[in-house]
Amino acid sequence: MTANAKCRLSNRILISPVFALALALGCATSSATPPSGAPLKPDAATTVSAEADAASLKATPAVFHPVKGIDVELSSDHVIDGGMLMAKLTWSFPKKLDPNGMTIHFEENEFFFYPLESDLLSFEALIAIPHNKKPGNYELTVKTGATTGPTEFKIPLTVVDGRYKSETLHVAPKLVNPPPKEMKRIKKEQHELGEMYKLIRREKLWKGPFVMPVESIVTSPYGGKRLYNGELAGAHLGLDLRAQVGTPIYAPAGGVVVMAKNLYYTGNTVILDHGYGIFTIYAHMSKLKVKKGMKVEPKKLLGLAGMTGRVTGPHLHWGAVIQHVRANPQDLMRVLR
Ligand SMILES: [Zn+2]
Repeated sequence: MTANAKCRLSNRILISPVFALALALGCATSSATPPSGAPLKPDAATTVSAEADAASLKATPAVFHPVKGIDVELSSDHVIDGGMLMAKLTWSFPKKLDPNGMTIHFEENEFFFYPLESDLLSFEALIAIPHNKKPGNYELTVKTGATTGPTEFKIPLTVVDGRYKSETLHVAPKLVNPPPKEMKRIKKEQHELGEMYKLIRREKLWKGPFVMPVESIVTSPYGGKRLYNGELAGAHLGLDLRAQVGTPIYAPAGGVVVMAKNLYYTGNTVILDHGYGIFTIYAHMSKLKVKKGMKVEPKKLLGLAGMTGRVTGPHLHWGAVIQHVRANPQDLMRVLR
């Protein structure tokens, strides 16, 4: 390996995880978001979003009978990388299941079932497929946690390419590489977020599909691969919605505020826990209107849009984390029931 190659490699190792975090947590920058008052130019972003949407919408529901006495209904037998689907399990054995012991696995990701009725015979789980998962045929593994009856079985699932487009952004180098003095803060926040997402609230706090946190248009879609100054730096794992400073941002569904504070990359940030490993993120706000620990109803005012954290213009970055998978929040509006 040449000295130059080594240098490039070590740079990648040192910089990438932190920068990837910036991308995952928020929008380090977004050229697609015009400065306040500037006319919004028709952008490729909307087209990309529509394409990804089309791929998700062509859902083909499928019912499987993996074991006698069990039905599993998938909202679609295929899903794009970065997409979501629902699994409904119906159990007809005399012995009831304990939802706390029921999981469905996609590769290394584990998702939880929640009961649909009090009879504990039907359950649902939301599954999120990681962005950039290679297209192909996979299996979902269901673990019932049953003491008698079937304990584990598999369901086929096809992952198709989300066809995410690339966005080229030109930014000041200081926006790409955070100053060394901020590294301690960034790492601390990264750790805090990781620990927070591990805490699973076994309570379904949402009802029906989510709604938009702000009625607006998408200025930068989920999943776009981002090239910063010509170098591929990761993907935008959230949705940017056009919102001028001061625009009210509302809860898209019921939940509990698990974070409401200023973070290095995402600025003034609210994170809601909706239960069963489903979290949503609201970033770059100018003002926060909720406090950690508050239970919120749908349409509760969370804060006012702004441009805090690493941004080039005001907007709302809306993110979703489903069991540690950074998913497309738009899917919460069509897949959840
Ligand atoms: Zn964003």
